[in-house]
Amino acid sequence: AGTAGGISAARIAALREREAERFRAARPKSQARLGNGIAGFLGGVPMHWMTDWPTPFPILVEQARGAVITDIDGNRLDDFCLGDTGSMFGHSPPPVARAIRRQAGRGLTYMLPSEDALAIGPLLQEKFGLPFWQIATTATDANRFALRVARAVTGRDKILVFNGCYHGSVDETMVRLKDGRPVNRPGLAGESRDLTKRTRIVEFNDIPALEAALADHDVACVITEPVLTNSCMVLPDPGFHDALRALTRKAGTLLLIDETHTISTGPGGYTAKYGLEPDLFVLGKPIAGGVPASIWGMSEEVASRYNAYNQSKEPGYSGMGTTLSANPLQFSAMRACLEEVMTADNYAHMEKLAERLDAGLTVAIRHHRLPWHVARVGARVEFICAPGPLRNGTEAESAHAPELEAAVHVALVNRGALIAPFHNMMLVSPATTARQVDRLISAFTDIAGQLAAQER
Ligand code: PMP
Repeated sequence: AGTAGGISAARIAALREREAERFRAARPKSQARLGNGIAGFLGGVPMHWMTDWPTPFPILVEQARGAVITDIDGNRLDDFCLGDTGSMFGHSPPPVARAIRRQAGRGLTYMLPSEDALAIGPLLQEKFGLPFWQIATTATDANRFALRVARAVTGRDKILVFNGCYHGSVDETMVRLKDGRPVNRPGLAGESRDLTKRTRIVEFNDIPALEAALADHDVACVITEPVLTNSCMVLPDPGFHDALRALTRKAGTLLLIDETHTISTGPGGYTAKYGLEPDLFVLGKPIAGGVPASIWGMSEEVASRYNAYNQSKEPGYSGMGTTLSANPLQFSAMRACLEEVMTADNYAHMEKLAERLDAGLTVAIRHHRLPWHVARVGARVEFICAPGPLRNGTEAESAHAPELEAAVHVALVNRGALIAPFHNMMLVSPATTARQVDRLISAFTDIAGQLAAQER
């Protein structure tokens, strides 16, 4: 019944079954320990996403170091998932691990600054170009707080997102276009509100639609990633970011750039590399090397408007902040990450190997004449089981081939490479080696060959 990514459903199912068997056979201990779920947890896992991996059961990790994960059965995997970006700079980067050890005996949270905080403020200004910053614990929270400021200073209640976006579990971004109409994102649990009342949604790269959606001057903020990375990767058309900036300025709408995934581009993210000029900036996940932390920053103008707003309103709880945010463990890890890990040298290494991975996968796809393509933003590479480039969230969604991708993912694990679930993301860290990249290319080439050969 049908094909996906140019491969028949029967072939995909056969590969999936074969590879699932091989996965189990290599993990007798793991299967005994968690093959039927972990006792005491809802759904058998501590966080429900863990059941979304395509493997028959989750990998039971013994330890992860650099770009290698080892499971309790002794299987070593080259890790290209890297905690879906949280460990983009490798597992336990040595400077971060040292900083954590140093801080471990000095208190972990006290709702007061430590000396590391004195260093971080100026570092954020220098790296990301905005003058005023706050620290939160997740990218989700940073986005929520930045949107709150945007609404406060503009006095407008609507925000605008691009179809296919993901900014964490921020309620009002959970909107999709369905047959061209805005709807609550399918699958949301317990959502009784019509989120489309306060959120406009248009396709990425659609400048006329964006202009129309901003025309009433009632949108407080456009929130977007520089590149849509959540579904399959969608790159901006040339000129799209210039138009986005010009149109938001014209409409008095603030622009929030969420760099949580695109920090793969370089030490200052896509924003620094391509000269974007956001009013608000968010970065979570890897900013403290894997310790939960995020940052959000604002321009001089937003800050002064926010100060004026605060003076004009009733004093009271702002609705921003969480108790464990901006704690000394975050400061120590973040400082080490900013100073010693997110360096130009490390990024040069990441970029070089990501280029090698991109080229190797592209050769395999061409060689086996598959209708697939590869997209890349710096150290982040993705293969997409459909022709490209993709131009918007609708195209990205229909480019997904979940069964095929799941079969390929498990087959990659069986050949020693772990890539991110949900999409086909592969991250290259400072700890990743050329040999690991070449092994991944070989594994992918082998799997692509098996799938393609069976079609001929
Ligand atoms: N922004 C973007 C662009 C993301 O991809 C994600 C998570 N994948 C988030 C924000 C949210 O991060 P967190 O789940 O750590 O809050």
